[in-house]
Amino acid sequence: MRQKYGQNFLIDNNIANNIIKAANLEKHDEVLEIGSGKGVLTKIIQPQVKNLVAIEADEILSQRLNHYFSFHGAKNIKIINMDFLRYDIPNTELKVISNLPYNIGTAIIQKILPLKNWTIAVFMLQKEVTQRLAASPDSKAYGYISIFTSYYADCKVLFDVSPRCFNPTPKVISSVMKLINKTQNPPDPVFFDFIKHAFSMRRKTILNCLSSFRDLERNKAARILDNCALDPFLRPDKLSISDFLLLTDEIRKYIICST
Ligand code: SAM
Repeated sequence: MRQKYGQNFLIDNNIANNIIKAANLEKHDEVLEIGSGKGVLTKIIQPQVKNLVAIEADEILSQRLNHYFSFHGAKNIKIINMDFLRYDIPNTELKVISNLPYNIGTAIIQKILPLKNWTIAVFMLQKEVTQRLAASPDSKAYGYISIFTSYYADCKVLFDVSPRCFNPTPKVISSVMKLINKTQNPPDPVFFDFIKHAFSMRRKTILNCLSSFRDLERNKAARILDNCALDPFLRPDKLSISDFLLLTDEIRKYIICST
């Protein structure tokens, strides 16, 4: 196993089929698969769709899968040997499916979610990561990445997958989640900057978080919270995405910044 590539191959065909089912594949679909590995998902997707592009960082695995599909005369699949984080995603409409390499799962999600051209994404990740992505306010798992995810997508955790379904066996439980694109325009950069800042001090009050953001002073921070009708003594994890959006609009009135 190549440790650096997070290679735990799915060996349970039922789970593979259930992952694919969640993507509601149709004959006209263009699909992007990240980390095709030995092709357990790839081989199910390819006959069901118009085109499939699979990105695989491991040269040997991508060559093997290429040989497999050429041998079977498949014309609608392209396997590209490269790091997905360096791949230029085409801007045609597509569905994304992946048993994600766990070490870079959130980086991959942050690359895909802001794009407008994906419709459905089905990802398998560590259970704990899916819980963070799907977390609601006032929970331990709630943080920057939960708000990032819910800004761009509707997401639902579908089912857990036991470590026994993989080879080699990972130490963690996995979960499969489905995301549907909300096709949002990117927010004001202050929105995510402030959320990152606030959750880097999640045990402080929102008043303290705001007073230490950019060049805001305490009295301005208090006024901003008052204008948003938010209790200054709340912790950031009590605030919903709409609270943060409201705060962003108010913060903008008090700070001069180009980003
Ligand atoms: N899809 C296969 C399956 O379900 O058995 C493999 C899943 S395995 C968890 C993750 C796969 O992603 C591995 O094949 C690994 O080589 C590949 N991978 C790791 N990092 C990658 C990257 N940066 N870009 C593309 N593929 C990557």
